[in-house]
Amino acid sequence: MNVLEIFSSVQGEGKYVGCRQIFIRLSDCNLRCAYCDTNFSRADFCNVETFAGSMKFTQIKNPLDAAQVTDIVKNFCRQVPTHSVSFTGGEPLLSWEFILEVATAIKKSCNVKIFLETNGTLTDELKKVLGVVDIISMDIKLGEGLLDRHKEFLKSAREKDLYVKAVISADTSTEEFLQAVELIAEISSEILFILQPVTPVGNVQAAPPEKILNFQAMALKRLRNVRVIPQTHKLIKIF
Ligand code: SF4
Repeated sequence: MNVLEIFSSVQGEGKYVGCRQIFIRLSDCNLRCAYCDTNFSRADFCNVETFAGSMKFTQIKNPLDAAQVTDIVKNFCRQVPTHSVSFTGGEPLLSWEFILEVATAIKKSCNVKIFLETNGTLTDELKKVLGVVDIISMDIKLGEGLLDRHKEFLKSAREKDLYVKAVISADTSTEEFLQAVELIAEISSEILFILQPVTPVGNVQAAPPEKILNFQAMALKRLRNVRVIPQTHKLIKIF
């Protein structure tokens, strides 16, 4: 398996912002979002933190097998008590067999939850790993023609500790946003919905604050729990 990074840090987004996590960043994604900050081009080596939270790295040649990754995670868990192990990307569900193997081994030896950060488009793959996943952070992609795929995904994901995030930029249209709200409400009005104001990158511009507040107000008419949470890890310059 080609793994880009393994490190210990804090979750910077969403419901579990601030929780200590171990991140396993897998290579490749089935989408290409304009605001994406993942560098998919370098997969020859995996950057592995030398000690949990040191922000110093050594390189291990890819591919890594499940046993190698499990040993690294177990080591980090001994060094720092950890809330959860996040499989992130890229789109981690492209590597569902790897997740299944590593997560099963981790759960046998570490007292951590398994956290999945996903773009919410690969439902068949999700079903294969649902037994080992505790928390699902699903991004809803506005304006990409993916709403039907998101709906199928949500039907399966809702049995877990699930929340949905939408990145809001200056270009996000009200129509697309309301379609996403309706989609979530059709599954359950109890699903936590998080509006994440975009961190500007390249040509992607921040949304004005009044737009964010207006979007939250509209969403609250259909959903019980709607929060605005920006990317906090970038404010304090950690991964
Ligand atoms: S789904 Fe996530 S990892 Fe994939 S391109 Fe979009 S932002 Fe990047």
